Amino acid sequence: MSEDRRSGMSAATLAARTYLDGARKNRPLTSSIIRGTIYTAPSAEEHARLYQEGAKTFYQRFGHPSEEDLAGKVAALESAASALVFASGMAAISSALLAHLPPGSHVIAGEQIFAQTDEVLRWLASGRGVEVTFLDTRDLRAVASALRQNTRLIYLETPSNPTLRVSDIAAVSALARESGVMVFVDSTFATPMSQKPLSLGASLVLHSATKLLGGHMDVMGGVVAGATEVLKPIAEMKRLLGGVLDPQASWLLLRGIKTLAVRTERVFASARALAEMLQRLPLVESLYYPLLCTHPDFEVASRQMSAGGGVISFSLKGGPAQARRLLNSLRLIQIASSLGGVETVIELPYDLDWYGKDHLVVGAVDPGLIRLSVGLEDIHELTADLSQALRMCE
Ligand SMILES: *Cc1c(COP(=O)(O)O)cnc(C)c1O
Repeated sequence: MSEDRRSGMSAATLAARTYLDGARKNRPLTSSIIRGTIYTAPSAEEHARLYQEGAKTFYQRFGHPSEEDLAGKVAALESAASALVFASGMAAISSALLAHLPPGSHVIAGEQIFAQTDEVLRWLASGRGVEVTFLDTRDLRAVASALRQNTRLIYLETPSNPTLRVSDIAAVSALARESGVMVFVDSTFATPMSQKPLSLGASLVLHSATKLLGGHMDVMGGVVAGATEVLKPIAEMKRLLGGVLDPQASWLLLRGIKTLAVRTERVFASARALAEMLQRLPLVESLYYPLLCTHPDFEVASRQMSAGGGVISFSLKGGPAQARRLLNSLRLIQIASSLGGVETVIELPYDLDWYGKDHLVVGAVDPGLIRLSVGLEDIHELTADLSQALRMCE
């Protein structure tokens, strides 16, 4: 597992410890929740000073002490100067995009990315003065030739939703740096336990903390981490748009992250085992899991990821009808959206996000694609459940 270069602590230790600043203190071992939305000031002058300095002890939308431990933790895990936390992954993503894409600017983005990220970019492109080029960001030549005078950033999602395409973060970042362009990486599917985009040259890393970081499907959140000058306008957007994370939610996320290393270790190993099992079955038509040598991006994935993640996407011979039969035959694995929780869930991405979206001709997904998010159940029971349901599809 990766090490934080500054502290010398491993990712597992960074994730487990609430405080990273040494042991000899008298304080609660865990983080505290401060619910108050406003703070008193000892004088009128001090009140004005707290406001002007953007203190975290003024008004909750401007920042609050409960999110500080969480932001520090995320920054440490991503080896970043600092981090910002948001009310959801989308609050983080839309604030980051709005902050860095003024009218007249151009952005290059993956053609197959999280559906609402795609929608935000299309919204910016429709009459709001931002030019967007969607392309396959694995294709370095396509990325290079799409660069323009006004290109501000390249937006990667890797691995991407839902077919787990892997873009080369280091190569795209090197290319971008030559032209003074920033690279944003949605690293939700990998987590810092598998991939460190900033260490590979990216300008900003983004996560939906609702997924593996929180890990229990009981709290939403989003985070971004990077250099202070990249974060500054995003913090301003957060203050204006108001996507602040609730103190209770901050605390829950911090608690979730404490077990990130052990959860991901189990989830990544189980996902790999299930992917290998599925790959051997004649009934399986296509299968995507980044660290299997049959994956189209295996070479890049094995360079930049230490594990393949917790999601497997696959399709069956017989298409959507067989996919529905598989879902309806499962007894242990539950039908639900999202990913990265302790319970294994399965869904059909096309029916949810891609159905009826004609504009996604290039990046469109197979209507029979099945997305499996692996959890912490016993691997033998997961295998047995998938196997009995697959037998119903023969
Ligand atoms: C879920 C998800 C998002 C959006 O996050 P929310 O917390 O649902 O707002 C963004 N990117 C990826 C890759 C996701 O999986």
